[in-house]
Amino acid sequence: MQTKTSIKIKPKYLKEYQKGYPLLTHEMSDDWSKVSQEGTLIDLYDWQNNFVARGYYGRQNKGYGWVLSNNKRSKIDSEFFTHKIKDAIAYRKAFYQDSNTTAFRIFNGEGDGVGGVTIDYFDGYYLFTWYSLGIYHFHAQIIEALKNSVEYKGIYQKKRFDQKGQYLDEKDDFICGSKAAEPLIIKENGINFAIYLDDGPMVGIFLDQREVRNTIKNEYAQNKTLLNTFSYTGAFSIAAALGGATKTTSVDLAKRSLPKTQEHFNINNINPDVHDIIVEDVFNYFKYAVRKKFLFDIVVVDPPSFARSKKHTFSVAKDYVKLLKEVISITQKGGLIVASTNYANFDLKHFKGMIDKAFKALKTPYRIEETFTLPKDFRVNEKFVQGNYLKVIFVKKLY
Ligand code: SAH
Repeated sequence: MQTKTSIKIKPKYLKEYQKGYPLLTHEMSDDWSKVSQEGTLIDLYDWQNNFVARGYYGRQNKGYGWVLSNNKRSKIDSEFFTHKIKDAIAYRKAFYQDSNTTAFRIFNGEGDGVGGVTIDYFDGYYLFTWYSLGIYHFHAQIIEALKNSVEYKGIYQKKRFDQKGQYLDEKDDFICGSKAAEPLIIKENGINFAIYLDDGPMVGIFLDQREVRNTIKNEYAQNKTLLNTFSYTGAFSIAAALGGATKTTSVDLAKRSLPKTQEHFNINNINPDVHDIIVEDVFNYFKYAVRKKFLFDIVVVDPPSFARSKKHTFSVAKDYVKLLKEVISITQKGGLIVASTNYANFDLKHFKGMIDKAFKALKTPYRIEETFTLPKDFRVNEKFVQGNYLKVIFVKKLY
């Protein structure tokens, strides 16, 4: 049965929620002790008992849940979710019509009006990712809403909602329809990528970097060498190779990165022999590269926000400047650094400050050439700019 309760918003926070701020936070109310069950619908009131918004309780590292509506009459049911999903699909119409790109996000949490869940499209298959037990409470209605809105080959899901945001359940990723090929080959601006919908938390590609890959391919890679650090399945290397790079070097600690990157070269008919794929800690590789006096024309650096290896603990917030200094020292004069982070807790300005600090520390002049944030399909709620977590800056090392 659906549980419901109401809480009062502290006066200090009232305005934001009246204006449509979507995230429920610990600070915004003193009444959280009333709420214990994930998925509880919560009506938010001011101190004069005026209705402000309706949301649900679902703990994520970001907060306590999300506002679903500012209308007192909204019923949170399958019809409600169907409206949201139909709107979301209409917003991505151009993506569905582009035969060169067959993978994109069709529902981006609070950006599309329901925080805590995303839906990605992979050539006829749909993948839900649930970020809290609270939103998962509504899964039957939300899946029903998708089925009401699209034709599909199959539907999959990932549950990412234990306390640490770790991947929880590996066994029931498939929901219905027909199963996808393993791998499922999708296209992104004509590049082939191998997608595994039922093989752990990550499917093989981060869709939010689409424009960055395309820009490297079309505007920067020709006749250049590229070092791809934290390379995962080598997506940036593939884009560069197809854009005419003379050689790419992919470095990632995870053993699986080697076969996955090889597979990506193979399915794009690129001869893997001229490209290096190295399974190693990036920080060790830097030492090796310095010793060998390697200099790359382009270096891509897109680390996870937190990572622990045998020797290092890396956190973007603390260590990005140091990481950049290493990168600058192995970039050719006149070369390009593609500095990327998906860390949501600092903004673009702060990130630019980190880049400035690294270059200044090495007394190296630079120029910012391009800046990317999330692409259009990763729709952002204008009242929640932290939702635009991606920051990618192309920096030229001048001399
Ligand atoms: N840039 C990639 C995504 C990176 S995901 C892309 O756009 O496709 C983060 C990757 O960093 C993971 O594959 C993980 O194995 C790797 N990683 C984490 N710590 C590392 C380290 N110290 N050295 C090398 N790779 C590391």
